[in-house]
Amino acid sequence: MAYGVLVSTHLDDSVYRTRLRAVQQAASTAGIDALLVTPGPDLRYLTGYEAVPLERLTCLVLPSAGDPVMVVPGLEVLAAKASPIGVLGLTLHAWGETDDPVSLVASLLPGAGTIALDDHMWAEKVLRLRAAMPGARQVIAGPIIHPLRMRKDSAEIAALRNAGAAIDAVHADVAGLLRPGRTEREVGRDIAERILAAGHVSVDFVIVASGPNGASPHHEVSDRVIEVGDPVVVDIGGSMPDGYCSDSTRTYSVGEPVAVYREWFEVLERAQQASCAAIAPGVACEAIDEAGRAVLRDAGLGDLFIHRTGHGIGLETHEEPYIVKGNTLRIEPGMAFSIEPGFYETGRFGARIEDIVICTETGFESVNSRPRGLAMVEVA
Ligand code: ZN
Ligand code: ZN
Ligand code: ZN
Repeated sequence: MAYGVLVSTHLDDSVYRTRLRAVQQAASTAGIDALLVTPGPDLRYLTGYEAVPLERLTCLVLPSAGDPVMVVPGLEVLAAKASPIGVLGLTLHAWGETDDPVSLVASLLPGAGTIALDDHMWAEKVLRLRAAMPGARQVIAGPIIHPLRMRKDSAEIAALRNAGAAIDAVHADVAGLLRPGRTEREVGRDIAERILAAGHVSVDFVIVASGPNGASPHHEVSDRVIEVGDPVVVDIGGSMPDGYCSDSTRTYSVGEPVAVYREWFEVLERAQQASCAAIAPGVACEAIDEAGRAVLRDAGLGDLFIHRTGHGIGLETHEEPYIVKGNTLRIEPGMAFSIEPGFYETGRFGARIEDIVICTETGFESVNSRPRGLAMVEVA
């Protein structure tokens, strides 16, 4: 199997400087005095610092005007300095085990009126910050940070291509792992091993949904034994060393499925193509959803497509933009998202085809390139 190419885990420092400035600008336009960002995808996006969210407070204090400060537990100063934070020249405020980091943050923002908190901040920290800054109004930072994260630059697009190639390499092996008599769990274990071997640093999810389990879109694995005639939905993904995620679904058939399944699967292929073909700058997210959904609906399968068409992807597997009815956001070049229609018939079977695509100036580019048709697994 082909292994993914490793790309450097940190981007150029100037990228983070630009992002920090852009967020400060957006915050000031929105009338927000400061952002507080704890470990998670937003902190990694803004500073390259890949810290784990823990009970001890690590927090980027980013005033809309003024210099950013990183508040870190003393024992994590070395880790913070080893990240791009070290070369970005951000002021580090270390706190000792018996200090109160929440009042330290509050003291850095005297008189702040509106403070935006990152969407993933733990409720316990949100409430302690609220108590320490009773005069400040808390809002979520997503509307400030996500419009930036949604528009991928060329390095991020390269990272998503790299992640796509890595998960494609895993799918290339899946047909060989699916044999009648094996359980979903056994196959899932082999897939997880290959996700790491292909260059990912974490296995984010492994869905091996055979036969009737395919009707549950987020089924993971079970001890069900794969039988001849089973369609198997395999939806897998992981994170690469640079943090960018892969996510791809292919549907396999262990021996010949029932006739109607093949018929419906052909409709699904056309639906997936129709949504992809609808992608162009200026097209609303909901129109991309509708393009594929209409194909399934016209074939009488509309009620079996029970989820949105897709989700954005980047440092998180699910992020903006969401390809769903009601989302009037217009797609722009550089936006990356999944196109993953499916059909799900309870008690019987399911199917899904999923690619990660990037909107280009003229249409789209898919980072996944494995054949999309029903992948046949020969049985003796
Ligand atoms: Zn999902
Ligand atoms: Zn997905
Ligand atoms: Zn998926």
